[in-house]
Parts: sequence; structure tokens; C-alpha cells
Amino acid sequence: MCDLCSVNATRLSRRGLVLGGAALAGMSMMAPGTAWSQDTPQNAISPDAALQRLMEGNARYAANTSANNDYSAGRAARVNAQYPIAAILSCADARVAPELAFDQGPGDLFVVRVAGNFLNNDGLASFEYAVKYLNAPLLMVLGHSNCGAVGAAIKVIKDGATLPGHLQDMIRDIKPAVETAEKSKPADLLSASIAENVRQAAHRLETASPILTDYVGSGKVKVVGAQYDLATGKIALL
Ligand SMILES: [Zn+2]
Repeated sequence: MCDLCSVNATRLSRRGLVLGGAALAGMSMMAPGTAWSQDTPQNAISPDAALQRLMEGNARYAANTSANNDYSAGRAARVNAQYPIAAILSCADARVAPELAFDQGPGDLFVVRVAGNFLNNDGLASFEYAVKYLNAPLLMVLGHSNCGAVGAAIKVIKDGATLPGHLQDMIRDIKPAVETAEKSKPADLLSASIAENVRQAAHRLETASPILTDYVGSGKVKVVGAQYDLATGKIALL
């Protein structure tokens, strides 16, 4: 933790930023959204401003007009610090890649991924770190349509199936969302469970004491739930 803390407690000095900029001499422009050459960290913005930047990026991605494609831009400046504008809990599904889906570059997003995008204590610690030491202003739980992990949890509950290896552990953490979704007898249990799973993780982030609840309560940090649509690439807030 010490290495991580020291990196994130250290703000790049003005001189360091200038030198970082010099290392990039000859580059005509920074990648969109990356503000590594400025004195103010790029994530010193409001939660709403961060969310707007993500949603605008998703609009570009869905329209196949992504702008973040120069991955070496700002690389030298990124060596010493990171300033993510958002921390995102996403499914490990290969079709859902937050950096791509939000058209953000390296250093822009702090991403925690696990199949079924559920939140356990390990994931929670990562979010606490992102908020307390990296100053991320926005936390997002990102589910997606047709999630296989949530579908598996439904199958286990409905059929009493037992999955091999450690897969049962994953099911255990998704099960509460499916059980809650079931109570309203939805026409589409999978969709309802996916949305409920996002809501439950977002609620846990919002109410996680002592670190996150303090930041959320003061308005410095906002938690949102969202869903990625595999068919369109569009992300909608829940
Ligand atoms: Zn999934």
C-alpha cells in the first residue's frame, strides 16, 4: 500500500509537469480529455462534469467516432501520477471494455472488473483507494445486457444447479440481486436481475462507511449505476 499511497499522495510539481511536457515536444496535441500538461489535475472536476465527459465519450464510441487513439500521448507525465476522472465497477465480459466504451485514454479510468460486476470487500477497497488517494470524483457500476454471470446465477437458483470450482462463490455474490428481482415477478428476469445487481452494488458504494459515505455525503463524490447495451454500444444510466 505504501508505494501506491506515495505515488498518489504526490502531486506532480509544476516543474515536473513542464519537464513531462518537454518530453512530449513535437507532439501537436494532447489526446482529447487528457490534461497532463495543466497545473490542475484533470480529475479536479465535479462528479457531474466527469459523468458528462463519460457520456459524451460513449456517444462517440457508439457512433464509431472515437477520438482517444493516441495512447502515447502523455505517457511520460503519467509515470509519476494518475488522475482518473472515474472509478468503474464493470463485468469482466470481453465485450464490455470501459475505456473503449467511454472513449477514454490511459490514465482516465480506474477500473475494477469481475464477472457479474458484484462488489465484495476487495472491490470496495479499490474504490476507497480511488476516492481517498486518487481523488476520483465519480463512481460507476456498469452492468450490461445479456450478462452471462447473472444468467448463471438465475439458472442456479431456478434449477438448483451447482457450478464447478470457485464459480459458486461468484453465484453467491450475485444471488441477492436475483432474489430481489424475482419478488416483483418481472417478465424478463434476466434484465431485471442485471439492473438490480447494479443497483445493489451502487447502494453499497454509497453507504460504505467510513470512507465512501463521507465523500458521497459531502457531495464531492457521486455514485451512479449504468448499463451497456451489447447490441448498440450505448450506455444508459439506471
Ligand atoms: Zn457480464
